[in-house]
Amino acid sequence: MKKGLWYKSLIPVFLAGCVATGGGHKPDKPDDTDLSALFNRQAVAETYAISCDMRDFVREASYRTPSRRYTSDDFRGGSANITAIYSPHLSAEDRLKAEQFLDTIPGHVGDLFYKQGGVFVFTSQSLAEALPGYADHKDKHGNYPYQNNYVGLYRGNEKRVFVTFGLANIEKTDDGFEIKGYRPYGGNKIGVFHHELGHYIDDMLGGLGRKERTSDPNDILQHLQAHRHDDRFTDTAAFREALEADFEELVKKPHADYALKFRSYFLPDSYKGTKLYGQKDSWDDTGSEVFAELWSEVHGYGTYDLAYYFPRTYQIVKDVDRELRQIYEQNKRECEQQFFSPDFRFALQPI
Ligand SMILES: [Zn+2]
Repeated sequence: MKKGLWYKSLIPVFLAGCVATGGGHKPDKPDDTDLSALFNRQAVAETYAISCDMRDFVREASYRTPSRRYTSDDFRGGSANITAIYSPHLSAEDRLKAEQFLDTIPGHVGDLFYKQGGVFVFTSQSLAEALPGYADHKDKHGNYPYQNNYVGLYRGNEKRVFVTFGLANIEKTDDGFEIKGYRPYGGNKIGVFHHELGHYIDDMLGGLGRKERTSDPNDILQHLQAHRHDDRFTDTAAFREALEADFEELVKKPHADYALKFRSYFLPDSYKGTKLYGQKDSWDDTGSEVFAELWSEVHGYGTYDLAYYFPRTYQIVKDVDRELRQIYEQNKRECEQQFFSPDFRFALQPI
């Protein structure tokens, strides 16, 4: 996935049976990261603090109809009231699970995601069920990842988080592929869910932290809608420095090949001459994927124990989470309807 593409936030199914290695060791760290240099606290605080009426207005204005070209009509959702869209093929049990995932979103995350027009999409067969435009997208290995490999996705232009509960069984044919039924995906779906929210946070902090921003609260819509891919949190110098320092250390320590290969989704093929067996071919991809997965780990849902491999980066992600939570607690408005609070059952839209 190349820089600038808005569909880059993917996490594949691979090596699901492997066991993550590494203990819980975290290096000592004298001071917390100075986050005032990392993101625009004021912009975030203002966003949390808007009135309940304004919140609904902002939601309405920020809601984006997904692209007709890529999203199945069943999954488009034509109203800003829709916060979650479920596949009609989901079993009752999976549907319940999806709702339980929503209940695990902390207030400081859900509040912003909701205001920015965020929508969750849960598919049953594969991501292609909601994104038919990608059904025959072939990766460099000749596979069809939207059918049988990718299990989560964040689309920044629409602020949509996709998670699938199943994958297609693909048979390759001379002129493409044939679907031979579907199978449930048994991996860490809630981990994927929070990973995709991590991509959202990365984008959101970048958008709200734009330098040219004024402090005029009337501009809030503009800031909420701001979105530039060269302006993610993971593009900041502080994040890059931490990541780079972690890589420097990573290549100095001996790591088993299988431990690196298990984490290949987050690593480049090599770093300064040391083979890491990763899939990533750009620094941007590595940074945003590591951030998203560490975000999932910070909330207790990780699979890969990246905190062990990226201790400095992990600390920054943890600090960001703590800081956001604090700003939220100091600025939040209690509205009658708290869309992402555990107490609220979603206004679900039948499809
Ligand atoms: Zn990702």
